[in-house]
Amino acid sequence: MTNVCDPTLLAEVRKYGSFDVSGCFNCGSCTLGCVLSTDHASFPRRQTRQVLMGLKQMVLSSLEPWMCHDCGDCSTVCPRETKPRDGMATLRRYIASHYDWTGITAKINSSKIRYIGSLSFVAVLVLFLAVAYHVYMVKMPLSDFASTPMPLKHMFPMMTHFTLAVVLLPLFFLLSFAVRMYRFTMRGTEKMTMAPNLYFTEAKTFLYHLTTHKKMGECHEKSRWPKHLVLAWGVMIKLSLLVFALSWFQTDKLYQISHPQRWIGYLITAFIIYGAADILVSRLRKKKEVYKSSDMWDWTFPILLLAAAISGIVVHIVRYAGFELATHYAYAVHIMISVPLLVIEMPFGKWTHMIYRPMALYFQSIKEKALQKQWSVQGVPSHVAS
Ligand code: SF4
Ligand code: SF4
Repeated sequence: MTNVCDPTLLAEVRKYGSFDVSGCFNCGSCTLGCVLSTDHASFPRRQTRQVLMGLKQMVLSSLEPWMCHDCGDCSTVCPRETKPRDGMATLRRYIASHYDWTGITAKINSSKIRYIGSLSFVAVLVLFLAVAYHVYMVKMPLSDFASTPMPLKHMFPMMTHFTLAVVLLPLFFLLSFAVRMYRFTMRGTEKMTMAPNLYFTEAKTFLYHLTTHKKMGECHEKSRWPKHLVLAWGVMIKLSLLVFALSWFQTDKLYQISHPQRWIGYLITAFIIYGAADILVSRLRKKKEVYKSSDMWDWTFPILLLAAAISGIVVHIVRYAGFELATHYAYAVHIMISVPLLVIEMPFGKWTHMIYRPMALYFQSIKEKALQKQWSVQGVPSHVAS
């Protein structure tokens, strides 16, 4: 890799949040205090130096910012209070913006106005589409909107297609960005004596971290991991239900409250509300280092999750109660919250870490295995052996 110094890198990174390096005297306490940092993947001090030195290619090819689990242990031990945890979060936004070939991530991650504007734009667009559907497809006069109750059923076929589109399209974009992450971070690895089958044999690492988030449990703040896991599982099951089992919510028989499948929905809603509310309360209380400094992106994601879950409950209650007009309006509010969450947050926002983080651990595992293999063939280099 050719490392060309880019003197604009620090200013560029700072567009994505705080990156305070002015007081850093390179002592390394942050790296020593980070239980996730290893000999092979050292952070956060190294990334701070790379940004300061303008080593853009090195920064963009690094997996370490994704291996950081945002616990704040490094900020606690930093004698200069430069908040390396915040720096790593900023770096993740900067790097994710380069994975995204559409340029949208860069725009919304570097401007709060554009970020809120994009969420608002999608919400208004959803409302417009809902009104247009009723006016042009259902042939409902605008004057009937405030007075004509209609069972929700007439929307079910359209709802199914719409839901699949707003879940699968963002997922497609996110996966295409993950392919670019591979290109950015694994370039040059093929020069190692690496068997391609490592990509298959190490796939278990990706699945393990995708489903357990186990690394978070290794940080000093232990209580965060089970709560994060509950939230992550709630969201993953919810997405799976939307894609594979939307009919459960649309069929009268399955909509009966006694049906066991309903209770899966209640359980995951409780998971999401508990996980999102816990994050918000912790950010308000600011007792733990991880929650002491929060930027807009940290707030918006749990707020949207909580609002989507609560508005879903309201739809559920008014539908059971038989208030058809209220159900329509409650549903309109629910999708005005849920769709921006799916369309903006999942492929471009904070939610991207659900894929990038396990991917980074997967790629890192491949690199380490490849290195061991290379050393077993060529011998351990003298500077490592000593
Ligand atoms: S602990 Fe603070 S001062 Fe020391 S290297 Fe890390 S960021 Fe710099
Ligand atoms: S926030 Fe936690 S995981 Fe991330 S670098 Fe600091 S100590 Fe390590």
